[in-house]
Amino acid sequence: MAFPDTRMRRLRATANLRGLVRETELSPGRLVLPMFVAETTSGRDPIATMPGVDRLSISAAVDEAGQAAALGLAAVLLFGVPADKDEHGSGAWDEEGVVQLAARAIKQAQPQLLVITDVCLCEYTTHGHCGVLRDEGTVDNDATLELLARTAASHARAGADVVAPSDMMDGRVAAIRHELDADGFGETPILAYSAKFASAFYGPFREAADSTPAFGDRRAYQMDPANGRAAVREALLDEAEGADMVMVKPALAYGDLIAAVKAATRLPVAVYNVSGEYAMVKAAAAAGYLEERATVLELLTSLRRAGADVIVSYHAKDAAGWLLERT
Ligand SMILES: [Zn+2]
Repeated sequence: MAFPDTRMRRLRATANLRGLVRETELSPGRLVLPMFVAETTSGRDPIATMPGVDRLSISAAVDEAGQAAALGLAAVLLFGVPADKDEHGSGAWDEEGVVQLAARAIKQAQPQLLVITDVCLCEYTTHGHCGVLRDEGTVDNDATLELLARTAASHARAGADVVAPSDMMDGRVAAIRHELDADGFGETPILAYSAKFASAFYGPFREAADSTPAFGDRRAYQMDPANGRAAVREALLDEAEGADMVMVKPALAYGDLIAAVKAATRLPVAVYNVSGEYAMVKAAAAAGYLEERATVLELLTSLRRAGADVIVSYHAKDAAGWLLERT
């Protein structure tokens, strides 16, 4: 049946009709707030390229987590900015490291809020790469696995509810699963950054986390943005290694891959709405080119529509506030 028997506009006439047939819902419980916890600040240290996002001391991170919980956010995702770095990134698995201390403090203050920890070495290494370097300067995949596993276990001991490896080494999910199980954390889930692309959209994050590589780039381990089928392979491999959730990162330019990964795996799919995506919206809104609230809610809804179950976003607090106002 076509026009005039069919009129698509009939179901768009009122807010209640639109709500009744809406296919995609966005709610605070799907959103995760990333946080930068820094040993180098005593309070809040604004990040110039990410207006509204600060580097946080541990006590400021506890406050921020309290706000996240009050807004109904599911989780926070912790990144550490240590005062000292070394060649192997040993600060990453220090039991008294900044992420470990923050995880303990947040879990004590907000037991219901999920604490997810980013597992990688790049914030902790002097060279800024995500793993151990060989003499000639390339990342040694297999030698890195043990360090990542050690890091994940130290996060679990500190109270992390979920560990999230972001390094893109082959085999790291299995290595982390094995170590967690051996250390008595068989019930701690792994959220794998499965399809993490070598992206220009990470620029502001590197300032925030102080993790710009000292030389070269990460294209030898992060994915080529031109490759979608490889993204599906990565997700399926991580599923086979024991990942509990898989992630596509970045988000906005990768909707096709969110949908493809969702169709290929039976695992929940997370996406990371990254720093550059956030910065674009904030800059356009500040210039008066876009209305921030409507833009953010449309973008986050599009990620849910593409297949994301979980959305990591720097907009999470604002979006949750707007969603609560709307209901
Ligand atoms: Zn890294």
